[in-house]
Amino acid sequence: MEEVIAANLATVRGRIDASARAAQRATGAVTLVAVSKTHPAASVRAALSAGQRVFGENRVQEALAKFPALRGEFPDLVLHLIGPLQTNKVKEAVAHFDVIETVDRPRLAEALAGEMARAGRRLPCFIEVNTGEEPQKSGILPGVADDFIADCRDRLQLPVAGLMCVPPLHEEPSLHFALLREIARRNGLASLSMGMSADYETAIRFGATHVRVGTAIFGARQSLVTAAK
Ligand SMILES: *Cc1c(COP(=O)(O)O)cnc(C)c1O
Repeated sequence: MEEVIAANLATVRGRIDASARAAQRATGAVTLVAVSKTHPAASVRAALSAGQRVFGENRVQEALAKFPALRGEFPDLVLHLIGPLQTNKVKEAVAHFDVIETVDRPRLAEALAGEMARAGRRLPCFIEVNTGEEPQKSGILPGVADDFIADCRDRLQLPVAGLMCVPPLHEEPSLHFALLREIARRNGLASLSMGMSADYETAIRFGATHVRVGTAIFGARQSLVTAAK
């Protein structure tokens, strides 16, 4: 398992570098966020041993079960929250994550701003944009993104680093990557979290600064339905 994860990481890193070069972007312009959700701490440890330091988890409780012990051993570990955040989990999220990628509604932005001020921990935030305007998906709609970004930065003083999106499953992702890039450009935001196992090379062509890759590193996830049985 350890060798497989190290080999997968090397492959993904090679592809990231090649895509960055092809897009005439600086090497090191793209951060690989290794998405370890549903995978055990042993898998995270294997990735850490292979030099990976940035990880993504989508649930606060799952991250709390895995990461505090690993942080003791690897103090330079960086943990991104990439899943929906309930306001009643904001306190734990601010305490245990380093970057929040899923600021997707005013109430959450307010709760995060309040908790960051209280805890004295200012975490870089990404605003999640629902580029496909899918009703079941979280994220701010593109039409109100500019206002929401301004509110987060100016009124709430949130450290907004950039934007994040998860394009619709069965659509050409490049249109969504281009839209996210355009919203970031006109708002002067430098970071773009976009691209997953199936499309991170495309995302890099469209300016991704962070790619969130799970399956291509850690292998397939058990579906939640199967896992519950
Ligand atoms: C699970 C997840 C990923 C990783 O997806 P893979 O296809 O396994 O690379 C990326 N982003 C988010 C928001 C996720 O929930």
